[in-house]
Amino acid sequence: MTDERAERIAEFIAPLRVKPGSKVDLATDFDPGFKGGIGGKKQGRELLRTGVALLADYQRRLAAEGRYGVLLCLQALDAGGKDGTIRHVMTGVNPQGVHVANFRVPSSEELDHDYLWRYACRLPRRGEIGIFNRSHYEEVLVVRVHSELLERQRLPEEAKAKGVWRRRYREINDWERYLYDNGFRVVKLFLNLSKEEQRTRFLKRIDVPERNWKFSASDVRERAWWDDYQHAFSRMLSATSTRWAPWYVVPADHKWFARICAASVLAHTLIDIDPQYPEVGEKARHELSLVKEDLEAEAPPGAPADPYAASVAHRKGGHGT
Ligand code: ATP
Ligand code: MG
Repeated sequence: MTDERAERIAEFIAPLRVKPGSKVDLATDFDPGFKGGIGGKKQGRELLRTGVALLADYQRRLAAEGRYGVLLCLQALDAGGKDGTIRHVMTGVNPQGVHVANFRVPSSEELDHDYLWRYACRLPRRGEIGIFNRSHYEEVLVVRVHSELLERQRLPEEAKAKGVWRRRYREINDWERYLYDNGFRVVKLFLNLSKEEQRTRFLKRIDVPERNWKFSASDVRERAWWDDYQHAFSRMLSATSTRWAPWYVVPADHKWFARICAASVLAHTLIDIDPQYPEVGEKARHELSLVKEDLEAEAPPGAPADPYAASVAHRKGGHGT
C-alpha cells in the first residue's frame, strides 16, 4: 500500500467522521445526498472495485497474522441499505474470514441476560472481520424510541431510573475501549438516509414484484417515529464517537456512494492495523527444504521434479522471448 493511496482514503473519509466530543444534530450536520466530489456512478463503480480488491488483500493478511480482529457495526433506518452494503463491500473477501451477525427483537433467553450479552456472544475472533447487521446500538435507539422495550428487559428499578441512556452510552464506550485495548477494532457506520429516499425505496418494494418480500408494513409504521429516531441517532452519535471507536455518518441516499464510503472506512482501519504474513523461521525453512527434497524424489518418470517451479521458470523464460 502506497502512503499516497492510504492518505487519499484518509482524506476521503475525514468529513464523514464524527469528531469525538462534538454535539451532532443530524438534520443540519450531515447531508444524506452528499456525493463527495466523485463524478458519478461509473467512476464510483471503478473506485469500489479497487477498494474491494484492497480489502480482500488486507483480510488475507489479517487472517494470516491472527492477532487483531475487526468488528464492523452497521446501523440504519429501514431501507437504509445495510444488506446491499454488506454484499457489495465484502464481495471478493474470503467468506471463511467474515461472519455476519443479525440482531433482531431479542429472544426470551437474550432478555434473561444483561443487555450487552448477546452482542458479546457474537464478537469476531482474532483474524476475523465480524459484521453486526444492527448492533448493540439498538439498545440506545429502538429501545429508547419505544420505552416499552426497556420494560421488557426486566431491569431492577435503580437500573432504569433517570440517566439510563447516559449510563448506557458510558457502558458502551467502556466496552468498546476494552475491545480496542485487547486488539479488536470497532468500526461504526451509520447509513444516513433521507425521509424522502426511504419513502421512494418502500414504494419500489411495493411496485417491483421481486422486491415485495422485502416490504414490511411494520417498517412503514416505524416511519411515524422518524423525528424520535433522528433525535436518538443525534444523541448516540454525540455521546459514543470516541477516539478508539469513532462514528462515521455515511450519506446513504445514493447506494453506490454509500458502498464506497463503507469500503473506504473499513480499508482505512485495516491499513492502520497493517497486518503482516507471519515470517517462517530458519528452522521451519530448513524443514521445508527437507520435505521438498522428498517430494521431488517422488516425481514419476518424465515429470519435472517440481512442477510449480518448472512452470514459473517457463513463464519467466517466455517473457524474455
Ligand atoms: P431486513 O428487514 O433487511 O431483513 P432488519 O435488520 O430490518 O433487516 P428485521 O427482522 O426486519 O431485520 O428487523 C429487526 C427488528 O428488530 C428491527 O425493527 C429492530 O428495531 C428490532 N430490534 C433490534 N434490536 C432490538 C432490541 N435490542 N430490542 C428491540 N428490538 C430490536
Ligand atoms: Mg426490516
